[in-house]
Amino acid sequence: MLKVTAVSPESLGAELGLQNGTELLTVNGREIEDFLDWEFLTAEEQFLLHIRQPDGEEIEFDIERPEGLPMGVAVEPPRIRRCANRCDFCFVDGLPEGLRDTLYIRDDDYRLSFKYGNFATLTNLKPRDVERIIEYRLSPLYVSVHATDPVIRRWLLRNPLAPDVLEQLRLFASHGLQFHTQIVLSPGVNDGEVLEQTLGDLYAFGSPVLNVSVVPVGLTEYSKHSLVREPTEAECRAAISRIERFSALARAERGITWAFGADELYLRADLPLPPAERYDGFEQVENGIGSVRWLQLRIEEDREALADWRGRRIGVLTGISMASLMNQVLAPLGEATGATFDLIPVTNTLFGSSVTCAGLLPGAAFRLALAGRTDLDLALIPGESLNEDQLFMDDLTLADLQATSPVEVRPSYHFTDALNTPATA
Ligand code: SF4
Repeated sequence: MLKVTAVSPESLGAELGLQNGTELLTVNGREIEDFLDWEFLTAEEQFLLHIRQPDGEEIEFDIERPEGLPMGVAVEPPRIRRCANRCDFCFVDGLPEGLRDTLYIRDDDYRLSFKYGNFATLTNLKPRDVERIIEYRLSPLYVSVHATDPVIRRWLLRNPLAPDVLEQLRLFASHGLQFHTQIVLSPGVNDGEVLEQTLGDLYAFGSPVLNVSVVPVGLTEYSKHSLVREPTEAECRAAISRIERFSALARAERGITWAFGADELYLRADLPLPPAERYDGFEQVENGIGSVRWLQLRIEEDREALADWRGRRIGVLTGISMASLMNQVLAPLGEATGATFDLIPVTNTLFGSSVTCAGLLPGAAFRLALAGRTDLDLALIPGESLNEDQLFMDDLTLADLQATSPVEVRPSYHFTDALNTPATA
């Protein structure tokens, strides 16, 4: 059973009288467990829908969907699948105590992998899940592979029961599914020859493995430093050299780059980023693959839509790691808008100064960095530091930050989204 949370006015759901709280029981006699059942079973033109209204009345509809009319029904979010692993580099272990409860949930959910592109390890799949993935053709899936050697992967995931990921991918690929894959690089464990083998095994799959990204392990002051460490510059260079050999091979044989290093990997290796055309369709940009090149492209493409910011001073707040790459983005942005940009690298006051990515910055750190900045006309903060409820990691709200800052504050994902309307003052 799945509950309706909202119904759009011009929709089939509204015509049927579905409402907030309606229980969706079955479609064609099959029980509705979650949004996947709902979306896939009601995708047919004809189906039988059995519901229970909030007043207890049960109704069965024999539906013939009029062409072009959407169901228009939002349903409750799924109960998140908990992770079966205990990776030494787990983000959850790197959290300080006292944050909101939801941040401590280790999720590993193939449904969210399909729907939102969250990476999943597939180590907690039950036979029923495997059947659903195949039946509903959940493709592409985003899979954390890390290593294809099953023994090393089990060690990395700290899960002696983790199934062989190659066998899992092979089964799904035989049903036509495809995958975006990632490797979190843990030095001394899955770099070197292990990385070579993993890239080789994934490449040998052919078209089912759409691409592979390699992301350096990221730790905080609270992580298990006795068990895991971040890669050195030399280790990042060695990894890039292996990745780029596979990229060159893929470009020669398949016409795509296929294997990518995260921007962070290039930064730590002190090597220049590949040019924009090497990132194929920027399919893993949300995983930090090609973010700088993608931002540069967005500025170029959105140029006409930008407001006139001539004579204005705009503060750009970001994590320390991105700050060193940010000038490559702010130079073209200054040219496109006429504004002067002031890069403000923000130290993470919650996780410690070693945590340098923008997405983990707490509201208090932005507040501190903006104190007294009356010289600015506008301050941009990274949109990824906020969740969907507009909360920072430390539970400060965006509205709180805006109310207490001496300058207008706008969250931004790619700059041009926040610079298309002039400053309010
Ligand atoms: S797979 Fe590893 S890193 Fe991801 S949530 Fe589970 S324990 Fe944490």
